[in-house]
Parts: sequence; C-alpha cells; structure tokens
Amino acid sequence: MKILLGTHNKGKIKEIVEMLGDLPIEIVTLPDSDREEPEENGKTYFENALKKARFYAEKYGIPALSDDSGLEIDALNGKPGILSARFLGEDTPFDIKIEKILEMMKNAKNRSARFRTVAVIYFPETGKILHTEGIVEGEILRSPQKKEGSGFGYDPIFKPNGFDKSFSMLGKKVKNKISHRANALKKLKEILKKEFSEVKNDGD
Ligand code: IMP
Repeated sequence: MKILLGTHNKGKIKEIVEMLGDLPIEIVTLPDSDREEPEENGKTYFENALKKARFYAEKYGIPALSDDSGLEIDALNGKPGILSARFLGEDTPFDIKIEKILEMMKNAKNRSARFRTVAVIYFPETGKILHTEGIVEGEILRSPQKKEGSGFGYDPIFKPNGFDKSFSMLGKKVKNKISHRANALKKLKEILKKEFSEVKNDGD
C-alpha cells in the first residue's frame, strides 16, 4: 500500500518517514512542482488536517496523510491555537510573534500550554478516515531560549514538562521523541499496524 504525505515541509517528511518507515507501506511525497494547497479555514485541527489529506488523496488517487497543529496557551484562553501559523499574519517572522505572545503574557502567573497535533489519513476509494491526536504539555518561558538552526515556530518559548530547556534548546533528537506530532504519529502507527494485521488475517 502507498501513502502520500500531504506536505512539503522537509522536517515533517523526515520525521514521518523515520516513524512509519518500518511498516509495510510505501511512503511517497508530493512532486516539488505541486504547490497547490487547500485553504486551512476549518474550525478545528481535525477539519484542517482532513481537508488537506482529502485534497491530496483525491488529486493523486492514493491514501494521503496530513496533519494540523497549534500551540494552546491557557492564560490566553487557548490562543493562538488553530491560528498558530496565521497569528499576526502568516508572513510575520516568529521572533515578532513570540515577542507579542510574551508581551500578552507579561502578567500571567499561569504559564501552562500545550502543543496539539491531529493527524489524518484519508482513503479516496472508500472515504475511510483514520485519525489520531497527540499532545505535549509544557509551559511558556518568560524569555526565548533559542539555539540557532534548531527548531522552528514557537519552539524557543515552549518548555515541555519534565525538561529544563525550551524545545529549541533540547534539539531535534529529544523533541522528535516527545513532541505532539511524534505522539500523534505513534498512535497512527499502532492503528495502521492493526489495520494491516486485520487485512492479513482476512486473507489467510
Ligand atoms: P502545522 O499545522 O504543523 O503546520 O503547524 C501550524 C503552526 O503551529 C506552525 O506554523 C507553528 O506556528 C505552530 N507549530 C506547530 N508545531 C510546532 C512545533 O513543533 N514547534 C513550534 N511551533 C509549532
């Protein structure tokens, strides 16, 4: 079975291949030239992830995997949440988005926050949907801790629980073991394994 990854993000592609690479599936990626993307205007992570997975699955006629994530800060009533990428505008540098978040939280005692990912696989022939959710709980630091070339987005201000450094400082190896995306993919892998064993048993 083939699964198409509905993303151009090289970091995500690598992480997904590392995670699902030992399953009996062929992982294929989008052609570089295909820059067509559905608009992410859903009200939930699930809606956005499904929209993307379905778009690519129907376009290429094979099952497609997409995800959608965000940072939820309790002192900001869950913001930026589903709007994480679009907070202050999609093209605004993250240094500025981070500065604004720290400013909005300057008097906040409760620093708790989480990253959340919803991952979806859509099967175009049957309309079947597999989906999982992954979370990593943590807190928002009072100032950014940034290691050049490590991490992206809100990583410099997010410290996962049980660690004493930001996601950015912890580096990719640690982050990819404990992240929201890793947790969603681990669950997806378990579901896929079960699917394959059922298909195999049906055929026996
Ligand atoms: P996406 O849906 O995975 O592309 O994530 C949407 C937005 O959430 C990104 O543009 C980032 O702003 C934020 N985000 C998601 N995952 C992470 C992460 O692991 N670190 C930092 N920011 C993230």
